[in-house]
Amino acid sequence: MILVLVETDAHGATETSQETLTFARELADRRGGLTLHALLVGPLADGITQAALTQLGEQGVSTVRHAQHEQLSSYAAGSWATAVATATESVSADIVMAAGTARGSEIMAHVATRLDATMAANVVAVDDVDPLTVSRQVMGGAVLEVMRVASVPAVLTVAGHAVDPRAAALPTQPHVEVFEPPLTESDVVGRVVRVEATEVDDTAALTGARVVVGAGRGAGSAHGFDDLLELSELLDGTLGVSRVVTSLGWRPHHEQVGQTGSRIAPDVYIACGISGAIQHWAGCQSAKTIIAINTDADAPMVTKAHYAVIGDLHEIVPAINEELRRRGS
Ligand SMILES: Cc1cc2nc3c(=O)[nH]c(=O)nc-3n(C[C@H](O)[C@H](O)[C@H](O)COP(=O)(O)OP(=O)(O)OC[C@H]3O[C@@H](n4cnc5c(N)ncnc54)[C@H](O)[C@@H]3O)c2cc1C
Repeated sequence: MILVLVETDAHGATETSQETLTFARELADRRGGLTLHALLVGPLADGITQAALTQLGEQGVSTVRHAQHEQLSSYAAGSWATAVATATESVSADIVMAAGTARGSEIMAHVATRLDATMAANVVAVDDVDPLTVSRQVMGGAVLEVMRVASVPAVLTVAGHAVDPRAAALPTQPHVEVFEPPLTESDVVGRVVRVEATEVDDTAALTGARVVVGAGRGAGSAHGFDDLLELSELLDGTLGVSRVVTSLGWRPHHEQVGQTGSRIAPDVYIACGISGAIQHWAGCQSAKTIIAINTDADAPMVTKAHYAVIGDLHEIVPAINEELRRRGS
């Protein structure tokens, strides 16, 4: 049996949790048809709605376990981990996994410690099912490591965009089982007491975009983005930037792509004036087609891209915009 910790937002399971469910289901099939259980933790704004159950059923989930306890009213890695570890032990899960988000990674590290289990973080593929052997991203995605996970249960987190969410061939009608994990004061020693938005966060627009126009130091200054923004609008896409750009305060942090920003997987990524450092590459390498615009023909972004235009972005991008406007008119 495979147990998946599912993170939720206003629309049900998050995109990364749906990816993880698909990853888990395909692994369950390869293990001879293991059952798939989903675990929800803490209060949900609308409870477990029929829409949420349908969504989980489309992923092939047979049972939804819902951990409820008054100490789960605010997030604490310790209490979430106790809920996951309790569910794992009570159903004797062979594998327990979560999306490799900040919270997923934090919780599963606690879970592995509590279960005295082996953990593989940021898994992108299963190489062998017996013994379980996985490939996982390390060094911000620059290196793939093959790891044997011999413990039972095995604890995994799945890297973002490792798979696209896909519906099961045969949808299920999951039933819900509520349980109360045995939480103690020590589980909530470190817990979230307040959440404040620091800036308008439009990360979802970036991670979900089919076209991303990337902008790096080559933009020149905070005033160098007008043509790049226009290009992203003309292509019905959005802007993504390098860390230099956010560090210099030219653009907000939620637009950052990379190891410490968002990982994107658009159909097209147009990287303008970006050198392609490994920390940036970690966030954009899943793009289906990468086009680099750069003055340096030897820049890593240029050598790794599918297509490249060598030249000044301040000349090339306005020319592309003009042509797109002409074709659109
Ligand atoms: C722990 C850690 C985490 C990090 N996380 C991230 C991250 O999440 N995301 C990220 O992006 N970086 C990250 N970095 C920083 C990363 O190492 C690089 O410093 C950064 O990506 C470089 O940004 P850049 O490509 O915009 O700038 P540069 O490396 O300075 O490159 C600018 C590029 O623009 C080209 N150029 C200049 N002028 C023009 C022009 N007019 N037209 C066309 N091309 C031009 C140049 O040839 C060059 O290739 C991280 C670093 C560390 C240590």
